[in-house]
Amino acid sequence: MRVHARAGVVRAAAYVLAGWLAFAPPLHAAVAPEGVPTDRRVLVLYSLGADSVSVWQRLVHKGVYEELGRNNWAVGPGIFEERFDANRVGEGAARAAMGPYLRSKYADVRLHAVIAENQVATRFLDDHPDLFPGVPRYYVNHGRHDWQPDDGTGLEVQPDFTRAIGIIPQVAPWVRKVVVIGDQSPRVRQWLADVRVAAARHERRIAFEYHDRDTFAQLETLVAGLDRRTAVFLLPTGQDPTGARTPPPALARRLAAASNAPIFTSLQSLVLPGVVGGYVVSGERIGRVIARIMLGQPADMADVQGYHFDYPTVRRFGLGAIPPEATLVNRPDNVWDLYRWQIIAGLTLIVVQGVLITALVVALRDRRRTLADLHDERNNLEDRVLQRTLELLMANTKLEQLATTDPLTGIANRRKMTDTIATELERASRFQHPLALLMVDIDHFKRINDTFGHDVGDRAIVAMANLLTSSLRTIDMAARFGGEEFVVLMPETDEAVAAIAAERLREAASAIRLPAGAGSDVVLTVTIGVAAARADDSPSALLVRADKALYRGKKSGRNRVVRATQPCDILP
Ligand code: GH3
Ligand code: MG
Ligand code: MG
Repeated sequence: MRVHARAGVVRAAAYVLAGWLAFAPPLHAAVAPEGVPTDRRVLVLYSLGADSVSVWQRLVHKGVYEELGRNNWAVGPGIFEERFDANRVGEGAARAAMGPYLRSKYADVRLHAVIAENQVATRFLDDHPDLFPGVPRYYVNHGRHDWQPDDGTGLEVQPDFTRAIGIIPQVAPWVRKVVVIGDQSPRVRQWLADVRVAAARHERRIAFEYHDRDTFAQLETLVAGLDRRTAVFLLPTGQDPTGARTPPPALARRLAAASNAPIFTSLQSLVLPGVVGGYVVSGERIGRVIARIMLGQPADMADVQGYHFDYPTVRRFGLGAIPPEATLVNRPDNVWDLYRWQIIAGLTLIVVQGVLITALVVALRDRRRTLADLHDERNNLEDRVLQRTLELLMANTKLEQLATTDPLTGIANRRKMTDTIATELERASRFQHPLALLMVDIDHFKRINDTFGHDVGDRAIVAMANLLTSSLRTIDMAARFGGEEFVVLMPETDEAVAAIAAERLREAASAIRLPAGAGSDVVLTVTIGVAAARADDSPSALLVRADKALYRGKKSGRNRVVRATQPCDILP
């Protein structure tokens, strides 16, 4: 790429200075806070027609307004635009009346710059040095090789065909033939010459075929017959040998529809659906250069070319190795690009929820574990309490037993018997049931002790206790009341029946034989006093009556049963 902006810059600077001096007051007066002059008036002369009829014009215009917008241009340059519409009305007709028209239209407009874009407008401006005296002139994209204006700044871009051709084997390495298409217009002829130079370095692997004198119809047939190993390199082609004319983008569209081979180009305006693209001069970027001139900012053409591809066509021909910096147009919106923040927000939400759920699960697990521990602890406690209660119960029972049991014989003691007599007396009087009591005393016990020893005496007492418990009814109760003295309490029994039971006891006692060593046995006899409960009786009164009967029994010879109510009742 070669940019021509050399000697003209110096001259242009002089014009700018002159223009600034001439219009200093208004310029000085109005400068926006951002540094963008608000009072600049700029005339732009476009070679082509309205945006709606020219793809190139539309791209340039888009670039101009995007760049102005990017610079916060709101009240910025007063923009005046004129179009030659040369493609439609012919270059001669377009230029003929423009001189007088502009002279009269802008007679009273003080311009700060005049910018001409593309060949027709730049040529016109160059041919009219008398127009807009003292106003700085810019010749953008003038299309003339090795030419610089002598009354302004030339900003020209030469397509970089080294890259424009070089990209073909890079993205389609299978290509063995390139068909180059152009026409006989001076600019395209110049470019065809440049293409030949660039093609030279690929000629060992790729054959180049040039078509610059075919009719449009022939070109259509040509591209329809190409195979997969061929590519087309299309220069802006707008006229054919028959004199037919067409806007180059329209021809590009026709060829794209017919071609079986990928079509590459060097102009952004030809990158249409069906045309692959390539390394192109960008109309939009030239528009940005014009905008910078409008704003009075430094401008050059260093950055107006770049890789530019139609994405669906790249996919259709299976091209690869697209440079990463390339612009891909008509790319289907990718979900990530469209919904990036929604996706990130959604994922974040999911992660946060996950963390919360995990925390909840962990907390629940801990809680469950704690509850289980607590439950175990409670069970343990209950077990221990139960055990202690049982122990206490047993201790109490033992204590109770100790307090109410005679230690030698294991039967109830005097205290227990006294309590029981009280309880049974009350029951008997309440239900008017009979209740009898026996007082049993071993005869001449002292002698037994004295003769056989205290141990034998003890065994005699135990034998007597065993006899009492084994021969009584379950409702009867026996107790050791004193040394060798026992009391038997017999509920539901009157004195007569008790006397019969006492007699049986007496007989059984006399049958006891206690081995006392040295082959001799101890023989026991007992005397029994029998008394029955009366109404309003007390335990001691009942006991005294039985004791008295017992006493009488002793007195009358022992080994007998005496009833309290029968003083002379002496049994045989
Ligand atoms: P009787 O009743 O026939 O009139 O004559 P006795 O010899 O049995 O009369 P007493 O009541 O005077 O004697 C009771 C004796 O029993 C006095 C005491 O030494 C003896 N004795 C009291 N308790 C025990 C004891 O637990 N074991 C032994 N071996 N002797 C006891
Ligand atoms: Mg006695
Ligand atoms: Mg006694």
